[in-house]
Amino acid sequence: FAQLLEQDPEIAGILVSELDRQRAGIQLIASENQTSPAVMTAMGSTLSNKYAEGYPGRRYYGGCAEVDKAEILAVDRAKALFGADHANVQPHSGASANMAVYGAFAKPGDTVLAMSLDHGGHLTHGFKVSFSGKWFNAVHYGVDKQTEDIDYDQVEALAKEHRPKILLAGGSAIPRLIDFERMRAIADEVGAIFWVDAAHFIGLVAGQAIPSPVPHADVVSFTTHKVLRGPRGGAIVCKEEHAAKIDRAVFPMMQGGPLMNNVAAKAVNFAECATPAYQDYAKAVIANAQALAGGLGERGIRPITGGTDTHLSLHDLQGVGVTGIDAETRCDAAGIVLNKNAIPFDPEKPNVASGIRVGSPSVTTQGMGTEQMDQIADLIHRAVTTTDGDPEHEGARAIRAEVTELLASFPAYPAP
Ligand code: PLP
Repeated sequence: FAQLLEQDPEIAGILVSELDRQRAGIQLIASENQTSPAVMTAMGSTLSNKYAEGYPGRRYYGGCAEVDKAEILAVDRAKALFGADHANVQPHSGASANMAVYGAFAKPGDTVLAMSLDHGGHLTHGFKVSFSGKWFNAVHYGVDKQTEDIDYDQVEALAKEHRPKILLAGGSAIPRLIDFERMRAIADEVGAIFWVDAAHFIGLVAGQAIPSPVPHADVVSFTTHKVLRGPRGGAIVCKEEHAAKIDRAVFPMMQGGPLMNNVAAKAVNFAECATPAYQDYAKAVIANAQALAGGLGERGIRPITGGTDTHLSLHDLQGVGVTGIDAETRCDAAGIVLNKNAIPFDPEKPNVASGIRVGSPSVTTQGMGTEQMDQIADLIHRAVTTTDGDPEHEGARAIRAEVTELLASFPAYPAP
């Protein structure tokens, strides 16, 4: 760091101020976490210098002996962690992993049946501004109005009507467990590939805290930087029969040279996830998410579906008469980082939204427990209902002081 500081003080300064920002607020973005110094060391290493198009033992470049070892470790650890036949650890991101899955199983114009974005899906699940919505015929299912959980009868009806090439399960704002058996049965009924995008919850699977999609799905894609707590990136696990197709779709169809520094960092992370400490972490993430959802619910900020089985909850702010964007701004000014989120059947536009999404991965990494979640629920409720988004507002200042006091006992990246 001293070298960077001397050479490029502007960027060095940003590194420091971003660390300060991560330390100064309560981080509740459900898709974020605080990866370990070991993972970061692998990411910031000389493996970044190496070109390694291809796969271990079958590269298009010389000098790959060392990076081959890293990739083999990452693949073997991923297979062991998830009980998978095959793993590809090269996708640069979750979106890249998803692009490769489309590339493996669908041609432009083919039909894919996936969860709609406004009910909790993801951009890459056929949303019209994404490549997936432009190149494929996306048909979307949603949640049931009463239960607010996935409407499996609708999934089945749409599958029979549209006979999709791919049935896709997963999303970015789904608080409940997905019924993989039911989805598999529907896919089988219409001869579709069953794909699970487990980006959000794969860390809970790795920690053996929730059921795994791997035995049920043809293919499972995921990001490595959410609950999983690894480097920013993506990965795919699949059944043996699809292994060659998936590998060809990642490289050379969708990507060039893999980021071998991140591949090594994925290996470090997969080993971390195979420990009892990580399994305890995954269980604590869920307990904390449930406590936070419950605490907000008790204060009139209703959890969609009544709660959560995972690391995140989605909340309807209509009961307190505040929009998602205002809640996000007010929390931000009070030192609490979360995001506005559309809720199912939202009367507001997506950039306003009637909800917020909160997640427990980061605060759990910092060592907080359910008691702190109740305190955080109180802080959020006060920020949302009694402040105005101005950081100088008296109420915002008072909440920030409490945030600082709380974080003093649970620091992010504590000094060794
Ligand atoms: N799939 C899901 C369900 C996600 O939630 C995300 C990211 O939030 C992605 C894919 C895309 O991942 P990335 O941002 O790494 O491209």
